[in-house]
Amino acid sequence: MSHTALVVGAGVTGSAVARELARRGFAVTLAEQYAAGSVRSASGGDTRLLRAAHGDGEWYTDLALRARAQWLQLQEERSTRLWEPTGLAWFAHRDDGFEARSVPVLAAAGIAHEWRTPGEAAELFPSLGLDGLHAVLWEPDAGVLHARRATQLLAAEAERLGARTIAARVRPEDEPEADVVVWACGAWLPAFFPGEVEIRIERRDVFFLGGDASWRDTPGWVEYDGGFYGHGDIGGLGVKVAPDLPSDEVDPDTLDRLPLAEREAAAREFTARRFPSLAGAPVVGARVCQYDLSSDSHFVFGRHPDRPSWWLFGGGSGHGFKHGPALAEYIADCVEERREPEPFHALGARTGDAGLRTKSY
Ligand SMILES: Cc1cc2nc3c(=O)[nH]c(=O)nc-3n(C[C@H](O)[C@H](O)[C@H](O)COP(=O)(O)OP(=O)(O)OC[C@H]3O[C@@H](n4cnc5c(N)ncnc54)[C@H](O)[C@@H]3O)c2cc1C
Repeated sequence: MSHTALVVGAGVTGSAVARELARRGFAVTLAEQYAAGSVRSASGGDTRLLRAAHGDGEWYTDLALRARAQWLQLQEERSTRLWEPTGLAWFAHRDDGFEARSVPVLAAAGIAHEWRTPGEAAELFPSLGLDGLHAVLWEPDAGVLHARRATQLLAAEAERLGARTIAARVRPEDEPEADVVVWACGAWLPAFFPGEVEIRIERRDVFFLGGDASWRDTPGWVEYDGGFYGHGDIGGLGVKVAPDLPSDEVDPDTLDRLPLAEREAAAREFTARRFPSLAGAPVVGARVCQYDLSSDSHFVFGRHPDRPSWWLFGGGSGHGFKHGPALAEYIADCVEERREPEPFHALGARTGDAGLRTKSY
């Protein structure tokens, strides 16, 4: 008889885990309180960057590489466009920062990368302000995922493989009946398991600016030491510019998804400096979503200490999307006891900073 699995949450992680467990013969139920890829979930954004560089975070570089191949395979198998092969430019402020730390890891993994002078990198964009740029690390095989579409496709794939989907908010006190329960609840996880996980929920505002056609499909970019990232105009959404500014804690159920004027001003000020031809461009779209931040930026994953058949995943920390399908393999391997969770994912308190997201602290 096959084992039963309940996956709680149909963001990218839960949907990919449901697909993976269904593939492995589990009788899966996928529960979602809103909708797979809901704009209230972190996975419900229009686009997410996929990059291999993670500073010295080798584990994540390898995971991103594996995930990239899986996304491309899914795109091909289902004839659904998920991937934009834009490449990604890392705007480095110094020669000993995140970008430089990434290089040996990329080299060891055989991942294409090259240093460009700011002047050379200017050729990648219709306009580039060089102010403050020390060098640019170019990752040609990085790109952009159509996030909401990809999440919904993964949930549909889980269903196609036999998973049952239910519309419900499942709570720990419901004592759900299944051989295995994977709580992939994103920003909702800490409220359900306050004693087990330390995850802080903060808002982030994302802006899309109306550039002309020269901005179509230009590269993704990250200014790690400046705390901004984005990409060119993909699918007519506009040019994405996202300030990674901290906020007070928010409640993902009650947060109004309206952008803040001061964040729009920060996005405009940065854009005018870094991409001068976009100065004064209109805002043609905006999204407000939330980060589920672990204090050191590592993911949070492990067995519930009192309920060994329950597995908790969270703490995507603003960099979890890209890994979806590969992360699901890791989670399923742990559920099947083929491997142990990594110690740096352990539940409980954290110290330090692994610097894995696209911003220095
Ligand atoms: C603005 C922004 C930009 C980002 N940029 C990038 C990027 O460029 N690259 C990248 O890799 N990552 C990025 N991330 C991070 C990435 O989007 C997240 O790490 C990832 O999407 C998290 O997926 P998840 O499935 O763990 O959580 P979520 O997507 O939040 O999904 C959790 C789901 O669980 C459901 N749920 C919760 N509790 C319950 C319950 N009790 N019962 C039923 N359903 C429940 C929710 O409704 C939700 O649908 C970004 C995030 C944000 C917010």
